[in-house]
Amino acid sequence: MIFEKIAALKADGTYLPSCYVGVKGAHIRYVGVTPPDEDYGERINGENRLLMPGFVNAHTHVAMTLMRGYGEDLRLQSWLFDRIFPFEDKLFSEAVYWGSLLGIAEMLMTGTTSFTDMYYFCEDTVRAVAESGIKANIGRGVSCFDATKRFADLPAYRDTKVLIEQYHGTEDGRILVDVAPHAEYTTRFDILHDAAELAAGHNLRMHIHLSETASEHKECVGRHGKTPTRLLEAVGMLGRPLTVAHGVWLTDDDVRCLSQYDVTLAHCAKSNLKLGSGVAPVEKYRRMGLPVAIGTDSAASNNALDMVDEMRMAALLAKGISRNAGALPAGDVLYMGTRAGALSQGRADCGDIVEGYRADLVVMDTTDVGLSPANAPLSNVLYGAGSRAVHMTIADGRVAYRAGEFLTLDIERVRFEVQRAVDKITGQ
Ligand SMILES: [Zn+2]
Repeated sequence: MIFEKIAALKADGTYLPSCYVGVKGAHIRYVGVTPPDEDYGERINGENRLLMPGFVNAHTHVAMTLMRGYGEDLRLQSWLFDRIFPFEDKLFSEAVYWGSLLGIAEMLMTGTTSFTDMYYFCEDTVRAVAESGIKANIGRGVSCFDATKRFADLPAYRDTKVLIEQYHGTEDGRILVDVAPHAEYTTRFDILHDAAELAAGHNLRMHIHLSETASEHKECVGRHGKTPTRLLEAVGMLGRPLTVAHGVWLTDDDVRCLSQYDVTLAHCAKSNLKLGSGVAPVEKYRRMGLPVAIGTDSAASNNALDMVDEMRMAALLAKGISRNAGALPAGDVLYMGTRAGALSQGRADCGDIVEGYRADLVVMDTTDVGLSPANAPLSNVLYGAGSRAVHMTIADGRVAYRAGEFLTLDIERVRFEVQRAVDKITGQ
């Protein structure tokens, strides 16, 4: 397909008022201000349209859409131990499959083309990703409260091995596998160490929650005499390319340490606010050299999987807490929500509108009143219309959502099956 005379925003916020973007197979093959000589098939008129790179959700637990609204107005510990964990004890494979599809549908209709996930029953999430056309880095969450068990004894180890052997790099690279210990406070020193060894042995990336709450950060210092960040360094995890979610309570020393390695922080502003965990000062982190991407965290703590919502929240918070309207300008926050996320997934050819990159694109409908007039198209998207202006979402050159229709999934069936699964779990 080719977009003709379309306005476009690059990942860094650069605005192109009228250009041609040609897509062949899974890739962007042409970007220019004049029409290409080659034929690209379907021609899409760019009038009243704005083309952007697809958003990358750098931290989520997609199947937790099943728990949307299931634990409200609770602090993290009580939210987890009184509501989420008991629900998760009753999870089953089909529930995760349908829950994953519901989350993927929400992401597609709000312009997300890739996400980084940590959860259980990962083969069911893999199936949902494969069918829906979206892309994902998938990690089996590893947690262990039994002091007699080593990493290799855990079901999470066996599941991770199956994922690596059967799914890493499949669907033309749309599916990648990460090694994903849940957090310092839900595992142990030796488990984190062995997980890092497994990742190194297969040349994989890693994904973990880090310093999300003040108590978690403080208790780690009490247990180990080290911050969670310095603990990850000591076990060898920082030797792997790594995504750390949250980082609300990082010390300056932590940020300097993380910046020396291939680490991206996934900023989940809305989840941190809703669970009362605090606000990560990500503008400072970026100034100190730590790459920052953006994630929604799960629908159980957000309660949406809407990256435009999340980018808006990140920008507003950065401005508000620094009392500086110049903090996190629109171009920076778009970069965090697109290219920085793609890089955090190890996808060097994703996250921007560039010839040779994967065609992960979102098309906005600029007839939305919130996008008019076009004084500042990117700010209009972030602070005005938001994701309701999403008209089309394309991942790897395949249209997955267009004009209110899902082309790769049956949304009525998904909603029905999700409700059925939730009723079964909650005993309705
Ligand atoms: Zn999380």
